[in-house]
Amino acid sequence: MREIFSQGVVLLDGGMGTRLIDKGLKAGELPEFWNIAYPESIKEIHQSYIKAGSKIIYTNTFGANRLKLKRAQKVSFLERFNTAAVKLAKEAAGDKVFVAGDIGPTGEFLKPYGGWEDKEFYQAFREQIEILVSEKVDLIVLETFSDLREIQIALQAAKETGNIPVFASMSFEKGKGGYKTIMGVNLEEMVQGLKEADAIGINCGGIYPGEAGEVIKEMKNFTDKPILVKLNAGKSKIVEGKVEYELGPEQFARDMVISIQAGAKFIGGCCGTTEKHIALLNELIQATAA
Ligand SMILES: [Zn+2]
Repeated sequence: MREIFSQGVVLLDGGMGTRLIDKGLKAGELPEFWNIAYPESIKEIHQSYIKAGSKIIYTNTFGANRLKLKRAQKVSFLERFNTAAVKLAKEAAGDKVFVAGDIGPTGEFLKPYGGWEDKEFYQAFREQIEILVSEKVDLIVLETFSDLREIQIALQAAKETGNIPVFASMSFEKGKGGYKTIMGVNLEEMVQGLKEADAIGINCGGIYPGEAGEVIKEMKNFTDKPILVKLNAGKSKIVEGKVEYELGPEQFARDMVISIQAGAKFIGGCCGTTEKHIALLNELIQATAA
């Protein structure tokens, strides 16, 4: 796994939720439930990304932490959701592609914004990460966080669990005061606050692929760490009852090249991106490297 850091640009995968919705995931249904109910669908999605050129795929475990599952009254599935997800990703990956154990936020707030203690968040992350590590993921990815303290706790839990790389990524919006998460964290605060991570980046949120070059440039003022960029296919809207995203594969891939030129190391897609977006992006990466 470590050798990947000395190679060129590394292609991540694209959206998972988006693909599951296409396959029939209903509003309010847990994406992780599909790991045990429809394992072939999950594997198919992984395989399509690998075919498109992804070198790191993410497990379908974004919300499989105790606090989130408690709210959905599915805590009893915690272990199965996570172990099944790693198994499916590893079956698809074989030995050519790396599997990242995907960790999302708890969906709750720490004091004083909410009622939770740091220790409770730590335990929830630690529990999930321990399962992913014992199932032998190659790395851990913390993604789509808005609260710096929360992702710092998750990062600590990941670093204390296994001796594997940890990527840390937050979601930003562009506002009057520059790029910030919805909790008000700016790029400098993120980079300074996540020094222990092996790669730092942005994913999901409201940043367009065409704006990422500016974001990376700013991040590079504060860090030499590898930078990860995994963005949405623009904004979504409802058209005739279906969610549609602004950027088709061509425009997405073209705009993501700006990130490569600005020095992103790990790139991929988030909401609204499919294997088509990733395949075109792969073609452009190959062309850029040649
Ligand atoms: Zn997203």
